[in-house]
Amino acid sequence: MTETAGPTLPTAQIVVRKRGADRIRRGHLWIYRSDVLNPKEAEPGSVVAVRNERGAVLGKAFFSSQSQISLRFLSRGDVAIDEAFFHDRFAAADVLRQRLGVDPLLSRRIYTEGDLLPGLIVDRYRDRLVVQSLIQATDRLQPLVTRILMERYQPRSILFRNDSRVRELEGLELKQEVVGEPVPETLVANEDEKEIEISLTSGQKTGSYLDQRDNHRAARRYARGRALDAFSYAGGFAVQIADRCEHVEAVDISAEAVSLARSNAGRNGLTNVECIEANAFDFLRERHKEGRRYDTIILDPPAFAKNKESLEGALRGYKEINNRAMRLLRPGGILITCSCSHHVSEGIFAEMLADAAKDAGCWARVLERRTQAADHPILLTVPETLYLKCFILEIRY
Ligand code: SAH
Repeated sequence: MTETAGPTLPTAQIVVRKRGADRIRRGHLWIYRSDVLNPKEAEPGSVVAVRNERGAVLGKAFFSSQSQISLRFLSRGDVAIDEAFFHDRFAAADVLRQRLGVDPLLSRRIYTEGDLLPGLIVDRYRDRLVVQSLIQATDRLQPLVTRILMERYQPRSILFRNDSRVRELEGLELKQEVVGEPVPETLVANEDEKEIEISLTSGQKTGSYLDQRDNHRAARRYARGRALDAFSYAGGFAVQIADRCEHVEAVDISAEAVSLARSNAGRNGLTNVECIEANAFDFLRERHKEGRRYDTIILDPPAFAKNKESLEGALRGYKEINNRAMRLLRPGGILITCSCSHHVSEGIFAEMLADAAKDAGCWARVLERRTQAADHPILLTVPETLYLKCFILEIRY
């Protein structure tokens, strides 16, 4: 199998319907299978040249033989997709992060479409890199990606966490692979002055929620009194806010997450963080029944809407936890509420919150409308690259 489809290799010529071509012109990067006229002509995971029905070149794209998303564009126009092309994309991603001032040692270095490298995620935890290859083409490019990463960051190891379920849509197996030294089970990362232990091989995502780092920091500015961090995972929010609060309850349904959060609280000498294994829905209901009140509540649930079909049910779930949190807050209390479903747009999220506030009989003042950390860049014309919403609300009665 070839690593790159450079200019010297035959490149399949794929023809797309007008609807697909229009999408690309408007700045999206994807073309769906139903808009591809001759999919049989391309190899799985290859780089192809894409033309409209009149023969004009639209650009070069990664091809998938399995996914509903057949084409993910790399370039507009007839650009050579060779090693130099990929080197340039990695270099540009680094330049962007320098400009954004993100921590060079602990950050997402490549964020798929947001960095115009569809299907690829690279997170850096100091001298360890964790990579997710999500599509056929990035699997095929793994040797080249490995070379570029070794050269650019000289990591002790690269862990390919190719165990994300989305790979199944591409017909790819789920597995982990290590290049270089063995990967330690856990490592400790600094988040501002705090230490967070993360698990690279078995933790969620690539080990931690880098996308929430800026929001952890923002939460710290507002948190006070009695606080609840619901859906806490390793305690990213709880650990950041604890020394501003009297008491913090960190709640997660996963026993592993709870023990990680507990050890993170201990590691930072925090004695006022109580880590509780519970279903947050039940927990909120119980606390309400008990007449408990809070000054700060954080809600950071997993993506309830995995697809468009589950949107309605997801919104009911979001509304339920937000409504309960609003009713649990004292007047002037702070609600930091997140959604990481990209199917829930910022507008829909805001409407849901308004609806929850209506039912709770309170006003919600918007202190901040936030999103994912800057090292997860958003392409304006690819709405799927914006997935995380984080509103900081002040609840008034
Ligand atoms: N707040 C974390 C990330 C949370 S990810 C951070 O900033 O790092 C979402 C978490 O919700 C996961 O740890 C998952 O185990 C947990 N979870 C999922 N369903 C839950 C439920 N019904 N009740 C409580 N926790 C749940």
